[in-house]
Amino acid sequence: MNTLSTSLSPDLVQRLRQAGYKITPPRLAVLEIILRDGQHQNPSEILRQAQAIHPNTGRATVYRTLELLTQLGIVRPIYVGENGPTYIRAEGGHHHLVCAQCGKIVDFDQCGADSLARELEARFGFHIRSHLLEFYGLCAECYTGA
Ligand SMILES: [Zn+2]
Ligand SMILES: [Zn+2]
Ligand SMILES: [Zn+2]
Repeated sequence: MNTLSTSLSPDLVQRLRQAGYKITPPRLAVLEIILRDGQHQNPSEILRQAQAIHPNTGRATVYRTLELLTQLGIVRPIYVGENGPTYIRAEGGHHHLVCAQCGKIVDFDQCGADSLARELEARFGFHIRSHLLEFYGLCAECYTGA
């Protein structure tokens, strides 16, 4: 029996149960992989890592779980470049610098949006759970090479 990793809050497990979903080991593995680090992961990477934990995890299970977790607002798909969606945790903030020329994406940790979020909550009575912030421009290499 697997123990829940620290990245899996009881609140998330609760949300899955309340939505009527059984917490199966493959589902748990998918969830853990996405929440573990703040990196984007595409479904193939998630499948490969899930199979390292539970060898009998199937591709369909991974896709269905990603769909379910997206519906529940636990993970979020991010479409960058020409490839399919990558997934990250939905809660909190996520920030990108996107190079318009070579397509490079740099993730960065912090931004000043939290105080803006509080302001928007007060103004619209909206409860904000997360934000996605993207800046477009040229990376250092493309800028100097141009
Ligand atoms: Zn570039
Ligand atoms: Zn990112
Ligand atoms: Zn932020």
